Amino acid sequence: MMQDVVIVGGGLNGCALAVALARMNLAVTLVDMASAEARGARGFDGRSYALALASQRLLRRIGVWDRVADEAQPMLEIKVTDGRAGEGPSPFMMQFDHAEIEEGPMGFMVEDRHLRPALLDAMTEAGVRHVAGQRVVAQDTGGARAQATLDGGEVLEAALLVGCDGRGSGTAARAGIGRMAWSYGQTGVVCAVDHDMDHGGAAHQFFMPGGPLAILPLKGRRSSIVWSERTERAEALLAMDDAAFLDALRPAFGSHLGEIALAGERWGYPLGLSLAERVADRRLALVGDAAHGVHPIAGQGLNAGLKDVAALAAVLDEARRRGEDIGGLAVLGRYQTWRRFDTATLAMATDGFNRLFSNDNPLLRGMRDLGIGVVGSLPRLRRAFIREAAGLTGELPPLMRP
Ligand SMILES: Cc1cc2nc3c(=O)[nH]c(=O)nc-3n(C[C@H](O)[C@H](O)[C@H](O)COP(=O)(O)OP(=O)(O)OC[C@H]3O[C@@H](n4cnc5c(N)ncnc54)[C@H](O)[C@@H]3O)c2cc1C
Repeated sequence: MMQDVVIVGGGLNGCALAVALARMNLAVTLVDMASAEARGARGFDGRSYALALASQRLLRRIGVWDRVADEAQPMLEIKVTDGRAGEGPSPFMMQFDHAEIEEGPMGFMVEDRHLRPALLDAMTEAGVRHVAGQRVVAQDTGGARAQATLDGGEVLEAALLVGCDGRGSGTAARAGIGRMAWSYGQTGVVCAVDHDMDHGGAAHQFFMPGGPLAILPLKGRRSSIVWSERTERAEALLAMDDAAFLDALRPAFGSHLGEIALAGERWGYPLGLSLAERVADRRLALVGDAAHGVHPIAGQGLNAGLKDVAALAAVLDEARRRGEDIGGLAVLGRYQTWRRFDTATLAMATDGFNRLFSNDNPLLRGMRDLGIGVVGSLPRLRRAFIREAAGLTGELPPLMRP
């Protein structure tokens, strides 16, 4: 069957895009090199995402949210504190309460084990052709149709090829699209902990000299930890047995949630920035980490990818209604114009924040304490931060509007 769109990569962004486009009655094929079983595994593995309110709206619109809603933890409050080596948190704190804006919670914490299968189920329901366990090894976007060749020999044809194949995007490389990339020399240690006391829907971000530590509320008395540390230290943390790891975590975590115990495995993610030099070409678009991989300091990587999904869906929908070729450069150029500035700004902002906060320089420490104090004391500035965290700033695509 002739397809409208071939998507390379079935991570969270690829699957969300496939569902959104199939619900617009486009014929969509999604290819992922991992097997469907491996990607649909439902065991608890400690990985979870902070989904901004705008991302939740998109998932609701495309029929995914109802499948995860019962398992999602609303984020009602975010508390930001500057931590110091050997001294604990500084007295300066920013507190963002969802009650200061009228839209509702700033976002929701959703575990990977719920979100991934929900997207796969929604893809099946929406009629997406899902090719699992095969790798795209070649592509040609120079002709009247885009072509993608699979390692099994099949050649897929469509009006548009979309690369959702992550930070090392082969789709971008094969199209000759360069990347700006560097490593932060940090690794994100990710895990979940059970604790004695209720978290009340509050998320905490402690800025420690080695990198930020985020404590994010999951359902029940459980929280997700994203602990960015210099890679050498992170590797040591990952190699420790559970008891030693908890001993290392406790001084940074604090005692506000009572006694803590590990729930599931620990995962290590090398942290870096990776920004494609363009996100559209003739018959080609890049979405998600393939377009922009950022530092998790603000928990915005997936949210930025889902905004790409909503923007590309809007651009293609309009193009179809106008009778335009959805793989044409004029159409895809509109997607690039919409998303390029936003994602470059996010990449630079997360990069700058990480540099400002991940060190113990007394001058920078003084500046950021001052900044935290100022933002914390000005209601209008605080509300602007809350709206940013909820993903409600900039031009929202229709799928992300209320
Ligand atoms: C520590 C950490 C914490 C994070 N926390 C958050 C958070 O709280 N909130 C948030 O918004 N974001 C968060 N992020 C970011 C988020 O995890 C990513 O932005 C998001 O998962 C990227 O999804 P993706 O679908 O774009 O790419 P990926 O998940 O990388 O998926 C790419 C897919 O492409 C497939 N693939 C690759 N090459 C081929 C090929 N040639 N043929 C076929 N298939 C191929 C792969 O198998 C893979 O399934 C975090 C990231 C890290 C590292």
